[in-house]
Amino acid sequence: MNLLLLRAEERLSSNIARVTDPRRLRHLHEVHRARRGDTLTVGIEEGGIGRATITGLTGHAVELALDELECAPPPPLPVHLLLALPRPRMLARTLENIAALGAKELTLLHTARVEKSFWQSPELSESRIRDHLVLGLEQARDTRLPRVGMAPRFRPFVEDELPALIEGRRALLAHPGQSVACPYRLPPGESVTLMIGPEGGFVDYEVERLQAAGFEGVHLGERILRVETAVVALLSRLF
Ligand code: SAH
Repeated sequence: MNLLLLRAEERLSSNIARVTDPRRLRHLHEVHRARRGDTLTVGIEEGGIGRATITGLTGHAVELALDELECAPPPPLPVHLLLALPRPRMLARTLENIAALGAKELTLLHTARVEKSFWQSPELSESRIRDHLVLGLEQARDTRLPRVGMAPRFRPFVEDELPALIEGRRALLAHPGQSVACPYRLPPGESVTLMIGPEGGFVDYEVERLQAAGFEGVHLGERILRVETAVVALLSRLF
C-alpha cells in the first residue's frame, strides 16, 4: 500500500479523516508499523493526492490530519480493455494489475472458451471487483477507479456495442500465432481498444468475426502468457 485511498465519507472535514476498516488498519499496523506522528501518502477517491499525519491510532481506527491533497493522480492509459472473463482467482489478480497500470475502462466479456460458471462467481460482485481494483490503485498511487462493464453474451455485444467502442480508435486483438507483432509504444494520443482472450484462447469464428469488425490480430511472441501476465505485457508494450 503506497497510498492510503480514502473514500469521500472517510474525510470528516477538509483536513481530518478517519479509517476503520480492518484490512487497511491491519496493513498500517503490521506492514507500515505505523505510529502516531508518522506521515503517509493519502489520496481521496477520484481526487487529489498528498500527505497526512497520523494523529490517533488504535486497533479499531486511525485518525489523520490531512495536508492539502493537491497532487493530481497519474494520467490514465488511453485504452478500453475487453477481457474474456478469466477464472475467479485469475480475475482478482488481473483486476489488480489493470488498476495498477492505469487502464480506466474495462469490459468483461463472454467468449466460447469462457466457462459459463465463471459468471456466477461471487468475485463478480461490485464490492469484490472494487476491492481488487483498490489494491491496484493503492499499489500504483492512483485515485481513479476503473469502470467495469459486463457483456455476458458475445454476439449481441459484438453486433450492438462494439462498433461504438472501436469507432475512431485502433482495435487490437491479442492472439498467439498472428503474423503481425504487437506494436511498441503507440504514438501519444492514440487510443486503443484491446481485446484479450480466455485461458483457452479465441475460437476461429471469434477471430474472424472480430477481424471483420475492424480488429487487427497481433501476437506477443511465441511464449503463451497467462491472462494476468499478458495484460501487463501488452499494456507495457503499447504505452
Ligand atoms: N491457448 C490459447 C492461449 C490463451 S492465453 C491460444 O493458443 O490461443 C490467454 C490470452 O492471452 C490469449 O487469448 C491472448 O489474448 C493473450 N496472449 C497470451 N499470450 C499471447 C501471445 N504470445 N501473443 C498474443 N496474445 C497472447
